[in-house]
Amino acid sequence: DVISQGGGRIASLSAESHKILNRRLEIDRKMLTALDRNSLHVAYQPQYDVASEKITCYEALVRWEDEDLGVISPDELIPIAEENGLIEEVGAYVAEEAMTFVTKWHRAGNDMSISINSSIRESLNPQWKDRLISILNETGCPANKVHLEFTEKFALKAEEEQSVLAQMSELQNLGLQFTLDDFGSGYASLRYLQHLPISSVKIDRVFIDALLSNPKTQKLIEGLIQLSKKINLYTIAEGVSNEQQFELLKEMGIDAMQGHFIGMPMPGEQIEIK
Ligand code: C2E
Ligand code: MG
Ligand code: MG
Ligand code: MG
Repeated sequence: DVISQGGGRIASLSAESHKILNRRLEIDRKMLTALDRNSLHVAYQPQYDVASEKITCYEALVRWEDEDLGVISPDELIPIAEENGLIEEVGAYVAEEAMTFVTKWHRAGNDMSISINSSIRESLNPQWKDRLISILNETGCPANKVHLEFTEKFALKAEEEQSVLAQMSELQNLGLQFTLDDFGSGYASLRYLQHLPISSVKIDRVFIDALLSNPKTQKLIEGLIQLSKKINLYTIAEGVSNEQQFELLKEMGIDAMQGHFIGMPMPGEQIEIK
């Protein structure tokens, strides 16, 4: 009957939410130990520069695999770290690994840049820039080879924007560069481009996914590239996963591409320094 059916549905729904909640709590509970025990890792994904026809940069992506919880994706890990306050620790860990990685290239006499994702929450901390500067000094990494990627998941308040801007300007003076990640899908892209010292944009994968099937999307991407060029931004497409996308984006004047067609994220040890 209707009543018991309804009841059953509610019961199974809540069992599902219970499972999700439990997983969140476990991730939260295990995070500090994982950081202490060095169970987090960094994967590196290559970025292809169209003009030089070379890999000129790698993006650092955090990885965590737990024996009980399995693979914990950054999309799960980062929001929980932002809530439990461990985002600074995670960010520092990734920055240290990533800067060590790119410093190896430089010691071998090769040019390479590194792109590090940064939570805007991290940069709201007044110690953000100092922490990055000490990691630069510790690792001996050239500051002008470091890019920081921001996703604007929420709009900043005016005073927050001022504080982020002040710290960004100092880092920029040292040579660091800033990239607006997931361009086109955020809430305040154009506002950020207007006020923050951003030098590259990464066009969101959702646009690249629809490029070949939706003529409107193709026009949109063309527009985003032209708009970016008008204000001297370096344009990167993310999630490029086949040759047709690659060729079309090249024709459209994109500066750089990243995605499974170029290369998968890989552990640093598997990447040959050349
Ligand atoms: P993102 O910065 O936009 O990174 C791109 C994501 O797309 C990565 O997922 C990457 O593995 C995936 N990807 C790359 N190429 C392709 C492709 O051709 N097809 C498909 N389907 N996917 C592709 P991942 O590693 O799961 O990271 C998800 C998001 O988590 C990142 O998005 C970034 O916003 C965040 N994130 C990752 N690492 C860190 C970190 O160390 N710190 C912070 N704050 N955020 C991070
Ligand atoms: Mg990114
Ligand atoms: Mg992105
Ligand atoms: Mg993304």
